[in-house]
Amino acid sequence: MTATIIDGNAAAERQRLQIAAEIARWKEQRRCIPGLAVILVGNDPASEVYIGSKARQTVAVGMRSFEYRLPAETSQDELLTLISRLNADEEVDGILVQLPLPQHIDTDGVIRAVDPAKDVDGFHPENAGRLMRGLPSLVPCTPLGCMMLLQTVATDLRGLHAVVVGRSNIVGKPIAQLLLQADCTVTMTHSRSRDLPAVCRQADILIAAVGRPEMVRGDWIKPGAIVIDVGINRLPTAGAAKGRLVGDVAFEEARHIAGAITPVPGGVGPMTIACLLQNTLLTAGGRGK
Ligand code: NDP
Repeated sequence: MTATIIDGNAAAERQRLQIAAEIARWKEQRRCIPGLAVILVGNDPASEVYIGSKARQTVAVGMRSFEYRLPAETSQDELLTLISRLNADEEVDGILVQLPLPQHIDTDGVIRAVDPAKDVDGFHPENAGRLMRGLPSLVPCTPLGCMMLLQTVATDLRGLHAVVVGRSNIVGKPIAQLLLQADCTVTMTHSRSRDLPAVCRQADILIAAVGRPEMVRGDWIKPGAIVIDVGINRLPTAGAAKGRLVGDVAFEEARHIAGAITPVPGGVGPMTIACLLQNTLLTAGGRGK
């Protein structure tokens, strides 16, 4: 069997085009433009790249982008003051604080300071709680992107057995909630799970969100399963300064066994920013724009 390769670049491009068309309608009919504020504290190189592409894509779909690049020594109070100002700013519909934050900053406190109605990352406890209760909420972008990719290859997920490897608050747990809402039978696994390969082999849908390069081997996969690889890992490679990007799944092994699989790069990654823009549109609409 050779798996269908789920093309995240194409899916993200389709989504961005839809958002751009919607923004064009907004400009004409509502005479307003949604705005997204992104805050970076410090100069982590990966974060710099992420916020650069977030800003570019925000502008490309026709939204307003507000970028705040703060020095690494910014205090908690200074950051909270900026968030409070953005919470009150009518032109700002979404606020994203790029993680990780420097050690001296209390990340949870910062997440809680963002107005839940502008929390486009979906990390605020109010949104996380609403998601858990099955209420309308802002959903974290990467899990949302995973669900959209899943739906490109399976429209009805009811009754399928989904195994999620990884239980982080930003990926594993919200994905499990979304799969549960789609009526999957969900098994969550983590670093203490016993006989992980055997658990994974039961999965009709296997989500890998671990951060360990190529940990999920081909023989962990049930023939025909849908595999969504969230992992982004850089492997040192001779001759390549930045190294090679691989997922949490051994792609070359898995693609001969799975029914469908996301590649890395070009799978889940591109969907994350597209879903961020989608969430910003949602918050702008929710705020009556
Ligand atoms: P975290 O480090 O927060 O969580 C990793 C999870 O994996 C934990 O729950 C951990 O278990 C579990 N885990 C670690 N080792 C094992 C193991 N040997 N067996 C089973 N489970 C294990 O990572 P994130 O959730 O933030 O990210 C996961 C991956 O997804 C990373 O590669 C990250 O770069 C990528 N990512 C990609 C995004 C995208 O846009 N495509 C966005 C966000 C993340 P325990 O809880 O027991 O410690």
